[in-house]
Amino acid sequence: MPADYVRAKKAAQKLIADYKIKTAPIDPEAIAEAEGIEVVYVKFNGPIADQVAGFSEPKNGRIIVNADLPSNRKTFTIAHELGHHKLHAAYLDDEGSYRVFPRFNSYDGPKPSEEQEADAFAAELLVPLEMLRKYVDFATPTELAGMFLVSREVVMNRMKWL
Ligand SMILES: [Zn+2]
Repeated sequence: MPADYVRAKKAAQKLIADYKIKTAPIDPEAIAEAEGIEVVYVKFNGPIADQVAGFSEPKNGRIIVNADLPSNRKTFTIAHELGHHKLHAAYLDDEGSYRVFPRFNSYDGPKPSEEQEADAFAAELLVPLEMLRKYVDFATPTELAGMFLVSREVVMNRMKWL
């Protein structure tokens, strides 16, 4: 199935509206907790620490985040996994198809549409275009990345949509 970006973005916009969020940075951990999803930071041992950014445990409603990630990557990981919780209940429950969120883009073959949708959800949640529009004329991408607590790459991608 092709990725449904419209549905993913609408789900993120609904959370921004539901929680009446008006200013950056957006805190996806607070939103997750308000949605009944616990965020747990774990210090991974061995190679998994370099490979995995995070994953979800749908059965107990938790998001597990690699404690060694830089803070903006932790934030994106939580937002990405929150996207799965909001969009992909069946996918999360299917141990055969669900993928952990890798630290680096390491999918064998094309990125699954659920993963693309979770990325789109995260970008929409963390950098709402309405907010970006307010600041974009007087802040550099690096400054914007600091304001929204995301990577410069996420800001640059979002600026294409303005
Ligand atoms: Zn994912």
